[in-house]
Amino acid sequence: MRMTEQRRVIANVLQEAQDHPDVEELYRRASSVDPNISISTVYRTVKLFEDLAIIEKHEFRDGRARYEPISDEHHDHLIDVKSGQVIEFRNARIEALQEEIARELGYRIVDHRLELYAVPLDEKDKQA
Ligand SMILES: [Zn+2]
Repeated sequence: MRMTEQRRVIANVLQEAQDHPDVEELYRRASSVDPNISISTVYRTVKLFEDLAIIEKHEFRDGRARYEPISDEHHDHLIDVKSGQVIEFRNARIEALQEEIARELGYRIVDHRLELYAVPLDEKDKQA
């Protein structure tokens, strides 16, 4: 892949992002580095990176596609439906349980996604 300067800027923005940004947010960040970057360039570049399996697309039910670099270390997501914040987690018991369920059904898992949609606990919920 020929890495143009604008693509490099967008790749850096994606690499540094901790928050699963959508294209509009990527555009905001990339254009603050290089004001010549257009939103259509961001769209095309994100599509290219997705096709090359450099980044992963998520649809967290808010109508916006969000992106993150694909990493070696698997994680799942909890989505705060009030704030839209995305929290990453990994739980060994859940991972093991999924393997067990698949095995009982005669399968070996090659990939999975788990998304928890949640609201923050109230103070009284925390005490209960
Ligand atoms: Zn993530």
